[in-house]
Amino acid sequence: MNIVSYLQTQQPQLRRQFQSALVSGHLSHAYLLSGETGSPLLEIAKFLAKSLVCEHPSPLADNVCWSCLRIDDGNYADIMIFDGSLATIKKEEIQGMEASFEKTPIEKAGRLIYILHLVENLTIEAVNSLLKFLEEPHQEVYAFLTTENESKVIETIVSRTQKLRVLPVDLNMIVALAIDQGIPLQDAELLAHFYQDPHKMKAILEEDFYVSMRDAFTHFLEALASNYSKAHYIAIDEIIERFTQKEHLRLIIDMMLLFFGDILALQNGQEPSLPSYVNILKPLLKRFANLEEALLEITLARGQIDLNVNATLLLDHLFIILLKEYIHDHD
Ligand SMILES: [Zn+2]
Repeated sequence: MNIVSYLQTQQPQLRRQFQSALVSGHLSHAYLLSGETGSPLLEIAKFLAKSLVCEHPSPLADNVCWSCLRIDDGNYADIMIFDGSLATIKKEEIQGMEASFEKTPIEKAGRLIYILHLVENLTIEAVNSLLKFLEEPHQEVYAFLTTENESKVIETIVSRTQKLRVLPVDLNMIVALAIDQGIPLQDAELLAHFYQDPHKMKAILEEDFYVSMRDAFTHFLEALASNYSKAHYIAIDEIIERFTQKEHLRLIIDMMLLFFGDILALQNGQEPSLPSYVNILKPLLKRFANLEEALLEITLARGQIDLNVNATLLLDHLFIILLKEYIHDHD
């Protein structure tokens, strides 16, 4: 993703807000980037961090100087990045970071920066350590926290940070950009809900987990139209027992919510969010009732992924919630 043009065209307000703080010397010691799933939060956080140490800022990062390039490569000594999308961020990591920030900066910019991506995925102990650190800001220490779910970030963190809101981008536009890049319509519609960058979408298209997940859902939905037992078997064999990693779990649940949310939308005469899947979904309109409650329950359960839940058990539970609304044929 070209983050510079993305910020210029899609997030002008955020860009202006940060740029004027930078130019006027009124930088906050901690920022909270809040946006929807799929927003390039980590990329924005890295770019803003670069802007604080860039050798030739104008006034934001130029992305080409030696410092910017080393940040891209993870070789800049004074920036630490913790990625909560990969694993829960633990107290020991926060304490280790705080200890290393007691020292003076190594790089000539003289600033120490940490990025906590998806701060809702910190353990409670990690949050407590972080709070103490946020309460006593050191002169040249800066933090960029990100969240896809601000309601799950405790108020004491929110109140100690300056919020930068990342606005949702128009889905139709992302789909159009993706199709321009040669991505098939069905994948473009599906992936636009998770990624806003066509290049990233292209990379995901080459990932085995995405292809097998998409195909598994297609098989599952097609079978549901006529053969409950087969559909149930596909859910277990191709989805529940196959995907056990946390990052895959989110994607599966999001796909569930998208497809079945569309069945509900079509039942209510509303526009689906995946128009190219309508032919697969239409036969299912008469197969489900009360999806509203089931989907609400699944949405709530999605929040549990951050805890150390057992992926197989959780998915199994969610498919039971969904399939109990299935209307069987009566002979
Ligand atoms: Zn630079």
